[in-house]
Amino acid sequence: MAETQVTSEQRKKIRLAFAPCADYTTQALRPALEHILQPQIEAAGGVSGKSVMLKPNLLAWRRADDPQSVNPRFIVETAKVFLDAGASRVAILENPAVQTAPQVLRAMGIADELKTLGVASANFKNYVKQPPLDAVFFHNLEIADEFREYDFVADLAKAKTHGMMTLTFCVKNLFGLVNGGDRLAWHLAVGRDYDKFADMLLDLYLVVRPAFNLLDAVTCMEGNGPGAGTPADRHFVAGGTDALALDAVAARVLGVDPDTLHIIKRAKARDLFPAPETVDNPDPLPVCEPLALPDRPVMDMAQLHLGVGIPKWMQKPLYKLMVVNPVLDPAKCVGCGVCVKMCPPKSLKLSGGKPAFDLPHCIRCFCCQEHCPKGAIEPRMTRMMRFVKAVDRLFRGGGAVESK
Ligand code: SF4
Ligand code: SF4
Repeated sequence: MAETQVTSEQRKKIRLAFAPCADYTTQALRPALEHILQPQIEAAGGVSGKSVMLKPNLLAWRRADDPQSVNPRFIVETAKVFLDAGASRVAILENPAVQTAPQVLRAMGIADELKTLGVASANFKNYVKQPPLDAVFFHNLEIADEFREYDFVADLAKAKTHGMMTLTFCVKNLFGLVNGGDRLAWHLAVGRDYDKFADMLLDLYLVVRPAFNLLDAVTCMEGNGPGAGTPADRHFVAGGTDALALDAVAARVLGVDPDTLHIIKRAKARDLFPAPETVDNPDPLPVCEPLALPDRPVMDMAQLHLGVGIPKWMQKPLYKLMVVNPVLDPAKCVGCGVCVKMCPPKSLKLSGGKPAFDLPHCIRCFCCQEHCPKGAIEPRMTRMMRFVKAVDRLFRGGGAVESK
């Protein structure tokens, strides 16, 4: 594998920290968060005068202590630790499944407190196609670009079970940077090839690379997560400078062999997983009950995304309506065959001197587009997809709560 920014960074010492935390009171949370954040802040060279974007998992907030989302006190106390460490700006950005981020924070009852602290919140709205890194597999990643406006990203994940990925921790939490309409399309595009989905999540991770990774495992979600599970008190918080290392160790603490997780398996296969000797993990690990895993190892994709089930018979037609397809401009194509060589699943072949797409097997990575020397391939959304994205942008794309 080519030398990448990530692998060279990972050769530096990775710092993990675990702390017991009885509940979500300030007395319990504050020292625990300081303990897990202090080594990360040191590793980042301090946050004094720097801006920090918090990306909490805000799936929804239906009732007090709802385990679907990072607990509101965890969010507020984390913001305070950064502010007390001298951060010049702390803001919360997220794109929840149904409501906007400011709406979820209001439902949590912390909007006024955040405003008093000077912590702004907003939905992601500036979705941009990201320049591909060497190590990235999917060359059409369009994700919220706001993270580039901050010196640091802090990934605040809830420890939850997940019907597709088994667990959703810090790496999976970055899926929130993908546009709402695209998220369903990604689920549909990868179908049940969860390794592909894991590869896309790893690509996101490579692009964003949060400096701070925090896991709320005071009350986890077990059973049919990420939306329909039950609360499970495990009374700890964890953090680390590397989300993959943190996710793997936390998975083991919560009773799941990390080598069975698609994200960890694919990270190891792609040489992205840090070597054990690079990880400094001085804290005693929490001893706790394993999380009960989802009943259904395979959940309906739309249910995972929207909390609404879609019958299986509708999924294929829906996929056809929601997908982004590679489309050839035959006038520009010179029949060189580069795209055919670059197609990972070999779903392209030359026919009559021009590439022909085998769309049922296309994984929408857009390596063909990326490598075409003539710009003859472009991603084209279906009408339905354009409509869904326009509606998403109209109703949930903005909604900033300015606090300063
Ligand atoms: S790489 Fe571009 S120009 Fe070459 S065959 Fe493919 S589409 Fe045509
Ligand atoms: S045709 Fe191949 S290279 Fe192009 S998007 Fe589909 S899978 Fe990727």
